[in-house]
Amino acid sequence: MQITGIKSQVVSVPLVTTFRTALRTVDRIENVIVTILTDSDLVGFGSAAPVAVITGETAASITGAIEYIGDSISGMKIGSWENILQRLNSCIIGNMSAKAAVDMAVYDLVAKSLDIPLYQLLGGMSSDINTDITISIDTPEKMISESREKLASGFDILKIKVGGDPELDIRRLQLIQEAVGRQIRIRIDANQGWSAKEAVGVGRELERRGILIELMEQPVAASDFEGLRYVRDNVVFPVYADESLFSPGDALRLVKMNAVDGFNIKLMKCGGIYNAMKIAAIAEAAALPCMIGSMMECHISVAAAAHLAASRAVISRYDLDAPLFCSRNPASGGISYSGAQVCFADAAGLGIEEVTG
Ligand code: MG
Repeated sequence: MQITGIKSQVVSVPLVTTFRTALRTVDRIENVIVTILTDSDLVGFGSAAPVAVITGETAASITGAIEYIGDSISGMKIGSWENILQRLNSCIIGNMSAKAAVDMAVYDLVAKSLDIPLYQLLGGMSSDINTDITISIDTPEKMISESREKLASGFDILKIKVGGDPELDIRRLQLIQEAVGRQIRIRIDANQGWSAKEAVGVGRELERRGILIELMEQPVAASDFEGLRYVRDNVVFPVYADESLFSPGDALRLVKMNAVDGFNIKLMKCGGIYNAMKIAAIAEAAALPCMIGSMMECHISVAAAAHLAASRAVISRYDLDAPLFCSRNPASGGISYSGAQVCFADAAGLGIEEVTG
Protein backbone atom coordinates (compact mmCIF):
# COMPACT_ATOMS: atom_id res chain seq x y z
CA MET A 1 0.00 0.00 0.00
CA GLN A 2 1.40 3.37 -1.06
CA ILE A 3 0.77 6.92 0.10
CA THR A 4 -0.80 8.89 -2.75
CA GLY A 5 -1.47 12.20 -1.02
CA ILE A 6 -2.41 14.13 2.12
CA LYS A 7 -5.44 16.35 2.66
CA SER A 8 -5.90 18.73 5.55
CA GLN A 9 -8.82 20.79 6.79
CA VAL A 10 -9.10 23.29 9.63
CA VAL A 11 -12.05 22.66 11.93
CA SER A 12 -13.01 25.13 14.63
CA VAL A 13 -14.72 23.68 17.71
CA PRO A 14 -16.24 25.89 20.43
CA LEU A 15 -15.46 24.83 24.02
CA VAL A 16 -18.26 24.13 26.48
CA THR A 17 -16.53 26.29 29.10
CA THR A 18 -13.72 28.80 28.88
CA PHE A 19 -10.30 27.25 29.51
CA ARG A 20 -7.84 29.37 31.53
CA THR A 21 -4.23 28.69 32.45
CA ALA A 22 -1.32 30.89 33.50
CA LEU A 23 -0.49 31.16 29.77
CA ARG A 24 -3.78 31.70 27.96
CA THR A 25 -7.58 31.89 27.89
CA VAL A 26 -9.52 30.13 25.12
CA ASP A 27 -13.18 29.71 24.17
CA ARG A 28 -12.73 27.69 20.99
CA ILE A 29 -10.02 25.55 19.49
CA GLU A 30 -8.86 24.96 15.98
CA ASN A 31 -7.86 21.49 14.84
CA VAL A 32 -6.05 20.75 11.62
CA ILE A 33 -7.38 17.37 10.59
CA VAL A 34 -5.23 15.28 8.28
CA THR A 35 -6.27 12.46 5.95
CA ILE A 36 -3.55 10.36 4.33
CA LEU A 37 -4.77 8.85 1.07
CA THR A 38 -3.44 5.58 -0.32
CA ASP A 39 -3.74 3.51 -3.45
CA SER A 40 -6.03 1.16 -1.47
CA ASP A 41 -9.43 2.00 0.00
CA LEU A 42 -7.79 2.65 3.42
CA VAL A 43 -7.16 6.18 4.67
CA GLY A 44 -5.32 7.33 7.80
CA PHE A 45 -6.58 10.08 10.12
CA GLY A 46 -4.68 12.46 12.34
CA SER A 47 -5.09 15.89 13.85
CA ALA A 48 -3.02 18.77 15.18
CA ALA A 49 -4.02 21.51 17.58
CA PRO A 50 -2.09 24.78 17.18
CA VAL A 51 -0.99 26.32 20.49
CA ALA A 52 1.25 29.18 19.43
CA VAL A 53 2.34 30.11 22.99
CA ILE A 54 3.73 26.61 23.58
CA THR A 55 4.69 25.05 20.25
CA GLY A 56 5.00 28.20 18.09
CA GLU A 57 2.58 26.76 15.56
CA THR A 58 -0.61 28.22 14.09
CA ALA A 59 -3.32 26.59 11.97
CA ALA A 60 -1.78 28.23 8.89
CA SER A 61 1.77 27.08 9.69
CA ILE A 62 0.55 23.54 10.39
CA THR A 63 -1.41 23.45 7.12
CA GLY A 64 1.66 24.62 5.21
CA ALA A 65 3.98 22.14 6.92
CA ILE A 66 1.57 19.26 6.27
CA GLU A 67 1.51 20.10 2.57
CA TYR A 68 5.32 20.11 2.53
CA ILE A 69 5.52 16.82 4.46
CA GLY A 70 2.89 15.30 2.14
CA ASP A 71 5.11 16.00 -0.87
CA SER A 72 8.07 14.42 0.96
CA ILE A 73 6.37 11.15 1.88
CA SER A 74 4.12 10.71 -1.15
CA GLY A 75 4.79 7.40 -2.92
CA MET A 76 6.26 5.75 0.20
CA LYS A 77 5.05 2.29 1.22
CA ILE A 78 3.02 1.95 4.44
CA GLY A 79 4.63 -1.46 5.05
CA SER A 80 7.98 0.32 5.50
CA TRP A 81 6.69 2.73 8.10
CA GLU A 82 10.03 3.18 9.86
CA ASN A 83 11.22 4.79 6.61
CA ILE A 84 8.18 7.06 6.47
CA LEU A 85 8.64 8.19 10.07
CA GLN A 86 12.36 8.82 9.52
CA ARG A 87 11.54 10.92 6.43
CA LEU A 88 8.73 12.73 8.28
CA ASN A 89 11.15 13.71 11.05
CA SER A 90 14.04 14.71 8.80
CA CYS A 91 12.31 16.50 5.91
CA ILE A 92 11.52 19.61 7.95
CA ILE A 93 12.79 20.83 11.32
CA GLY A 94 10.42 22.02 14.07
CA ASN A 95 6.68 21.94 13.23
CA MET A 96 6.12 19.27 15.87
CA SER A 97 2.31 19.40 15.91
CA ALA A 98 2.13 19.17 12.11
CA LYS A 99 4.44 16.15 12.34
CA ALA A 100 2.29 14.64 15.11
CA ALA A 101 -0.82 14.80 12.92
CA VAL A 102 0.90 13.00 10.05
CA ASP A 103 2.67 10.53 12.38
CA MET A 104 -0.59 9.36 13.97
CA ALA A 105 -2.24 9.06 10.55
CA VAL A 106 0.65 6.79 9.46
CA TYR A 107 0.22 4.64 12.59
CA ASP A 108 -3.55 4.58 11.97
CA LEU A 109 -2.90 3.22 8.48
CA VAL A 110 -0.36 0.62 9.61
CA ALA A 111 -2.80 -0.75 12.22
CA LYS A 112 -5.66 -0.67 9.72
CA SER A 113 -3.56 -2.60 7.19
CA LEU A 114 -3.16 -5.31 9.86
CA ASP A 115 -6.83 -4.96 10.90
CA ILE A 116 -5.99 -4.39 14.59
CA PRO A 117 -6.58 -1.48 16.98
CA LEU A 118 -3.57 0.82 17.22
CA TYR A 119 -2.87 -0.06 20.87
CA GLN A 120 -2.36 -3.67 19.80
CA LEU A 121 0.23 -2.63 17.23
CA LEU A 122 2.06 -0.62 19.92
CA GLY A 123 2.16 -3.27 22.62
CA GLY A 124 -1.33 -4.32 23.60
CA MET A 125 -3.57 -3.02 26.32
CA SER A 126 -1.60 -2.81 29.56
CA SER A 127 -3.98 -0.63 31.54
CA ASP A 128 -7.33 1.12 31.72
CA ILE A 129 -7.15 4.81 31.01
CA ASN A 130 -8.79 6.96 33.67
CA THR A 131 -8.23 10.63 33.03
CA ASP A 132 -7.96 13.41 35.53
CA ILE A 133 -10.11 16.51 34.99
CA THR A 134 -8.69 20.00 34.66
CA ILE A 135 -9.92 22.91 36.74
CA SER A 136 -9.14 26.24 35.06
CA ILE A 137 -7.43 29.00 37.02
CA ASP A 138 -10.11 31.31 38.45
CA THR A 139 -11.42 32.68 41.75
CA PRO A 140 -11.22 30.11 44.58
CA GLU A 141 -15.04 30.06 44.76
CA LYS A 142 -15.43 29.20 41.06
CA MET A 143 -12.67 26.60 41.27
CA ILE A 144 -14.36 24.95 44.26
CA SER A 145 -17.77 24.75 42.60
CA GLU A 146 -16.19 23.43 39.39
CA SER A 147 -14.24 20.80 41.39
CA ARG A 148 -17.38 19.65 43.21
CA GLU A 149 -19.32 19.39 39.97
CA LYS A 150 -16.59 17.30 38.31
CA LEU A 151 -16.26 14.94 41.28
CA ALA A 152 -20.04 14.45 41.25
CA SER A 153 -19.87 13.46 37.58
CA GLY A 154 -17.43 10.60 38.17
CA PHE A 155 -13.90 12.05 38.21
CA ASP A 156 -11.61 11.37 41.15
CA ILE A 157 -8.38 13.13 40.19
CA LEU A 158 -8.30 16.92 39.86
CA LYS A 159 -5.68 18.78 37.87
CA ILE A 160 -5.71 22.29 39.28
CA LYS A 161 -4.32 25.12 37.19
CA VAL A 162 -2.26 27.58 39.24
CA GLY A 163 0.73 29.78 38.44
CA GLY A 164 -0.56 33.24 39.28
CA ASP A 165 0.10 35.04 42.54
CA PRO A 166 1.74 32.42 44.83
CA GLU A 167 -0.22 33.58 47.92
CA LEU A 168 -3.51 33.27 46.06
CA ASP A 169 -2.47 29.91 44.60
CA ILE A 170 -1.85 28.54 48.12
CA ARG A 171 -5.25 29.88 49.20
CA ARG A 172 -6.92 28.32 46.15
CA LEU A 173 -5.38 24.92 46.93
CA GLN A 174 -6.16 25.08 50.64
CA LEU A 175 -9.82 25.98 50.02
CA ILE A 176 -10.20 23.33 47.30
CA GLN A 177 -8.71 20.60 49.48
CA GLU A 178 -10.93 21.60 52.40
CA ALA A 179 -13.94 21.49 50.08
CA VAL A 180 -13.24 18.15 48.36
CA GLY A 181 -11.48 16.26 51.18
CA ARG A 182 -8.04 14.72 51.43
CA GLN A 183 -8.94 11.47 49.69
CA ILE A 184 -9.20 13.25 46.32
CA ARG A 185 -5.94 13.23 44.36
CA ILE A 186 -4.82 16.71 43.35
CA ARG A 187 -2.26 17.47 40.66
CA ILE A 188 -1.19 21.07 40.16
CA ASP A 189 0.04 22.69 36.97
CA ALA A 190 1.64 26.14 37.10
CA ASN A 191 2.27 26.35 33.33
CA GLN A 192 5.61 28.14 33.92
CA GLY A 193 3.87 30.73 36.10
CA TRP A 194 6.31 30.87 39.02
CA SER A 195 9.99 31.60 39.55
CA ALA A 196 11.96 28.72 41.04
CA LYS A 197 12.02 30.47 44.44
CA GLU A 198 8.26 31.10 44.31
CA ALA A 199 7.65 27.45 43.45
CA VAL A 200 9.75 26.29 46.40
CA GLY A 201 7.90 28.76 48.64
CA VAL A 202 4.54 27.38 47.46
CA GLY A 203 5.67 23.76 47.81
CA ARG A 204 6.97 24.26 51.35
CA GLU A 205 3.89 26.18 52.45
CA LEU A 206 1.59 23.47 51.07
CA GLU A 207 3.62 20.89 52.99
CA ARG A 208 3.50 23.02 56.19
CA ARG A 209 -0.28 23.32 55.92
CA GLY A 210 -0.67 19.60 55.27
CA ILE A 211 -2.12 20.14 51.78
CA LEU A 212 -1.42 16.98 49.82
CA ILE A 213 -0.63 17.18 46.14
CA GLU A 214 0.30 14.27 43.92
CA LEU A 215 2.63 16.25 41.67
CA MET A 216 3.64 19.75 40.62
CA GLU A 217 3.80 20.26 36.86
CA GLN A 218 6.04 22.78 35.11
CA PRO A 219 6.48 25.28 37.96
CA VAL A 220 9.02 27.42 36.06
CA ALA A 221 9.81 28.71 32.57
CA ALA A 222 10.26 26.06 29.86
CA SER A 223 13.95 26.93 29.31
CA ASP A 224 14.79 26.94 33.04
CA PHE A 225 16.09 23.38 33.56
CA GLU A 226 18.26 24.56 36.49
CA GLY A 227 15.14 26.03 38.05
CA LEU A 228 13.30 22.72 37.68
CA ARG A 229 16.14 20.95 39.45
CA TYR A 230 16.19 23.57 42.23
CA VAL A 231 12.45 23.07 42.78
CA ARG A 232 12.80 19.28 42.68
CA ASP A 233 15.61 19.41 45.27
CA ASN A 234 13.67 21.66 47.62
CA VAL A 235 10.06 20.48 47.71
CA VAL A 236 8.71 17.13 48.87
CA PHE A 237 6.24 16.79 45.99
CA PRO A 238 7.23 15.18 42.67
CA VAL A 239 8.03 17.75 39.97
CA TYR A 240 7.03 16.95 36.37
CA ALA A 241 8.29 18.56 33.17
CA ASP A 242 5.74 19.60 30.58
CA GLU A 243 6.72 22.65 28.50
CA SER A 244 10.43 21.88 29.20
CA LEU A 245 10.04 18.50 27.48
CA PHE A 246 9.56 18.48 23.73
CA SER A 247 12.06 16.04 22.24
CA PRO A 248 13.84 12.83 23.23
CA GLY A 249 16.94 15.08 23.51
CA ASP A 250 15.16 17.20 26.13
CA ALA A 251 14.28 14.01 27.99
CA LEU A 252 17.94 12.97 28.04
CA ARG A 253 19.03 16.39 29.32
CA LEU A 254 16.39 16.39 32.06
CA VAL A 255 17.50 12.90 33.13
CA LYS A 256 21.20 13.82 33.09
CA MET A 257 20.53 16.90 35.22
CA ASN A 258 18.28 15.02 37.65
CA ALA A 259 15.94 17.95 37.04
CA VAL A 260 12.53 16.25 37.45
CA ASP A 261 10.67 13.30 38.95
CA GLY A 262 8.53 12.59 35.88
CA PHE A 263 7.55 13.59 32.35
CA ASN A 264 4.32 14.83 30.83
CA ILE A 265 4.42 13.52 27.26
CA LYS A 266 2.27 15.23 24.64
CA LEU A 267 2.16 14.25 20.99
CA MET A 268 1.84 17.90 19.89
CA LYS A 269 5.21 18.74 21.50
CA CYS A 270 7.28 15.75 20.42
CA GLY A 271 5.98 15.19 16.89
CA GLY A 272 3.83 12.13 17.47
CA ILE A 273 3.89 8.53 18.61
CA TYR A 274 7.29 7.68 17.11
CA ASN A 275 9.14 10.22 19.25
CA ALA A 276 6.82 9.79 22.25
CA MET A 277 7.88 6.14 22.45
CA LYS A 278 11.54 7.21 22.53
CA ILE A 279 10.79 9.61 25.41
CA ALA A 280 8.89 6.85 27.22
CA ALA A 281 11.86 4.50 26.78
CA ILE A 282 14.28 7.11 28.19
CA ALA A 283 11.94 7.62 31.15
CA GLU A 284 11.72 3.89 31.76
CA ALA A 285 15.51 3.52 31.65
CA ALA A 286 15.81 6.36 34.17
CA ALA A 287 13.02 4.93 36.36
CA LEU A 288 10.89 8.05 35.90
CA PRO A 289 7.11 7.69 35.61
CA CYS A 290 5.25 9.37 32.76
CA MET A 291 1.96 11.11 32.42
CA ILE A 292 0.34 11.40 29.01
CA GLY A 293 -1.28 14.75 28.35
CA SER A 294 -2.63 16.79 25.51
CA MET A 295 -3.09 20.39 24.48
CA MET A 296 -6.67 21.61 24.05
CA GLU A 297 -7.29 19.02 21.33
CA CYS A 298 -10.21 17.20 19.82
CA HIS A 299 -11.01 13.48 20.01
CA ILE A 300 -8.87 12.45 17.01
CA SER A 301 -5.42 13.32 18.35
CA VAL A 302 -6.36 12.43 21.92
CA ALA A 303 -7.37 8.98 20.63
CA ALA A 304 -3.80 8.56 19.36
CA ALA A 305 -2.44 9.58 22.78
CA ALA A 306 -4.81 7.16 24.51
CA HIS A 307 -3.78 4.23 22.27
CA LEU A 308 -0.13 4.97 23.05
CA ALA A 309 -0.81 5.32 26.78
CA ALA A 310 -2.75 2.05 26.91
CA SER A 311 0.21 0.19 25.42
CA ARG A 312 3.06 1.49 27.60
CA ALA A 313 3.56 0.42 31.22
CA VAL A 314 5.77 3.44 32.02
CA ILE A 315 2.86 5.77 31.21
CA SER A 316 0.85 5.52 34.40
CA ARG A 317 -0.90 8.88 34.72
CA TYR A 318 -3.47 10.21 32.27
CA ASP A 319 -4.42 13.79 31.54
CA LEU A 320 -6.61 13.26 28.50
CA ASP A 321 -9.66 15.34 29.31
CA ALA A 322 -9.40 17.94 26.52
CA PRO A 323 -12.18 16.41 24.33
CA LEU A 324 -14.55 16.81 27.28
CA PHE A 325 -14.15 20.58 26.87
CA CYS A 326 -15.14 20.36 23.18
CA SER A 327 -18.77 21.08 22.31
CA ARG A 328 -18.62 18.41 19.61
CA ASN A 329 -16.47 15.63 18.18
CA PRO A 330 -15.33 16.47 14.64
CA ALA A 331 -15.14 12.74 13.82
CA SER A 332 -17.26 9.65 14.37
CA GLY A 333 -15.83 6.58 16.09
CA GLY A 334 -12.49 6.77 17.91
CA ILE A 335 -12.59 7.33 21.67
CA SER A 336 -15.51 8.11 23.94
CA TYR A 337 -15.79 8.72 27.68
CA SER A 338 -17.66 6.97 30.46
CA GLY A 339 -17.13 9.26 33.44
CA ALA A 340 -13.35 9.41 33.80
CA GLN A 341 -12.70 6.33 31.70
CA VAL A 342 -11.51 6.62 28.10
CA CYS A 343 -13.21 3.95 25.98
CA PHE A 344 -11.85 2.66 22.68
CA ALA A 345 -13.96 1.85 19.63
CA ASP A 346 -13.83 -1.83 18.72
CA ALA A 347 -12.26 -1.13 15.33
CA ALA A 348 -8.92 -1.11 13.54
CA GLY A 349 -6.39 1.74 13.86
CA LEU A 350 -7.61 4.74 15.82
CA GLY A 351 -11.14 3.47 15.26
CA ILE A 352 -12.24 6.66 13.50
CA GLU A 353 -14.95 6.05 10.92
CA GLU A 354 -15.04 9.43 9.26
CA VAL A 355 -14.28 13.08 9.75
CA THR A 356 -17.52 14.98 10.03
CA GLY A 357 -15.92 18.43 10.49
MG1 MG B 1 0.91 21.24 31.67
